[in-house]
Amino acid sequence: MAEHHYDVVVVGGGNAGLCAALAAAESGKRVLVLERAPTHFRGGNSYFTGGLMRVPYTGLNDIKQLIPDLTAHEEASIEIGTYTADDFYEDLLRLSEYQCDADLADCLVNQAFPTLKWMREKGVRFTLQFGRQAFKVGERYRFWGGAILGVVGGGVGLVDQLFDGAQKAGIEVWYGARADHLHTDNDGKVTGVRVKKEGTYHLVKAGSVILAAGGFEANPEMRARYLGKDWDLARVRGTPYNTGDGIRMALEIGAQPYGHWTGCHAVAWDFNAPPYGDRKIGDLFQKHSYPLGIIVNKYGKRFVDEGADFRNYTYAKYGAEILKQPGRIAFQIFDQKVADKLRDEYRIKEATKAETQTIEELAEQLEIDVQGLVKTIEEFNNAVQEGEYNPAILDGKGTKGITPPKSNWALPIDTPPFLGFAVTCGITFTYGGLRINTQAQVLDVDGDPIPGLYACGELVGGLYYHNYPGGSGLTAGAVFGRIAGQAAAQ
Ligand SMILES: Cc1cc2nc3c(=O)[nH]c(=O)nc-3n(C[C@H](O)[C@H](O)[C@H](O)COP(=O)(O)OP(=O)(O)OC[C@H]3O[C@@H](n4cnc5c(N)ncnc54)[C@H](O)[C@@H]3O)c2cc1C
Repeated sequence: MAEHHYDVVVVGGGNAGLCAALAAAESGKRVLVLERAPTHFRGGNSYFTGGLMRVPYTGLNDIKQLIPDLTAHEEASIEIGTYTADDFYEDLLRLSEYQCDADLADCLVNQAFPTLKWMREKGVRFTLQFGRQAFKVGERYRFWGGAILGVVGGGVGLVDQLFDGAQKAGIEVWYGARADHLHTDNDGKVTGVRVKKEGTYHLVKAGSVILAAGGFEANPEMRARYLGKDWDLARVRGTPYNTGDGIRMALEIGAQPYGHWTGCHAVAWDFNAPPYGDRKIGDLFQKHSYPLGIIVNKYGKRFVDEGADFRNYTYAKYGAEILKQPGRIAFQIFDQKVADKLRDEYRIKEATKAETQTIEELAEQLEIDVQGLVKTIEEFNNAVQEGEYNPAILDGKGTKGITPPKSNWALPIDTPPFLGFAVTCGITFTYGGLRINTQAQVLDVDGDPIPGLYACGELVGGLYYHNYPGGSGLTAGAVFGRIAGQAAAQ
């Protein structure tokens, strides 16, 4: 087996791995990134993202440090409010049902802003998410839901900018290189990694190894084993290469499993989307505008509170609710009063949709039980309460007397043409993973750091349980990636 020597080896070339590699290279170390995918499929799940990044800010001055090229016109046309580190921390606690690791959460919220500033220095450009995270109220765009910032060019832009930075920093990347085994010495220190590249095994020896190989969302066997019944049937939203290798390799040498192993991030995803992500479509198979309408199953019955909270705080858990429905199918129904507010992803030609003048026709075209849907919409419309409708705030304009309720943004569905979109469950990433400390060192089953081993990104457990605040994944990957790279280089 051919032997190679580096100071730091990073397993996985997504956002977390590339941030780790860039940070490690800052101190002049020889850094190698091992990427399982071929070059034309590089970037992992990070490539498929919309590039939304959750970051705390106390006002426009903070945002201008990340987006110095914000124009005066843009400044005058926005209302961004504030989203403090405490707000971010509280969101992580609240959505995890107070189970997330307090130390990791604290590190994430406090390092998020400096880390994004550092990413900017590395060449990543940010922009405000006008189209997806703001509604126009009067003459101004009012941002909502704590996540207002994204990367220019979305996930594609993020990955290209990070790879450009890596090239400038002299970081080597091996594509089509699958890490499959960690080497340790007699003291349990990680000394390298075995890699299969073009059918041949190599031993890459290194002072430190950083695992950034994603979760197990693209592994149907592990999904069934840990997430449970029918999760093997979920559509995968992103890369086919995240099959849990990083987690498995670490567990094999005594790393501690941590976090919510039966939990995952899963969303409403076009019913006819392919089994894995499509690089040309990116994230556009998602359907995230359900707070503007209602969701029913094939019997025409509602099964979630579409207006329980801003979509950033409900979308990641509603995929699992769709998976439980007969045939793993659901339908989002809207009328013309909200049609202009639907997100960009509703306008792609690949969407599985119907547009009709009557509810009966809509049900027929989408193969929903006709009487079931008509009855549900009648009951829903009668249950809508008076109040001022405002999609940019939790407006409290809900329903009364139906189960489940719709707690905000309830408007009668009565203005044709009616729109319906067929969706299924698309899994994004898994919540269970490895235990790290705030230095990104992987801990063993006794709680001690495994010398020479670091981890970051999706394969870290302990941050998300049950649910997830939208835009946190990329920020967490960058924060712990940067920490891992700095620590590994020492
Ligand atoms: C459609 C979609 C939209 C999303 N939108 C957002 C968003 O807007 N904002 C947000 O914060 N999050 C979003 N997410 C979640 C986000 O993608 C993740 O939180 C983040 O990208 C994870 O980064 P990562 O580096 O840990 O993993 P990845 O980016 O998936 O990188 C892991 C890499 O490891 C490689 N790999 C796997 N196994 C091996 C091995 N054995 N050897 C070598 N390499 C290996 C993979 O090929 C992959 O390139 C979205 C996800 C999807 C799928």
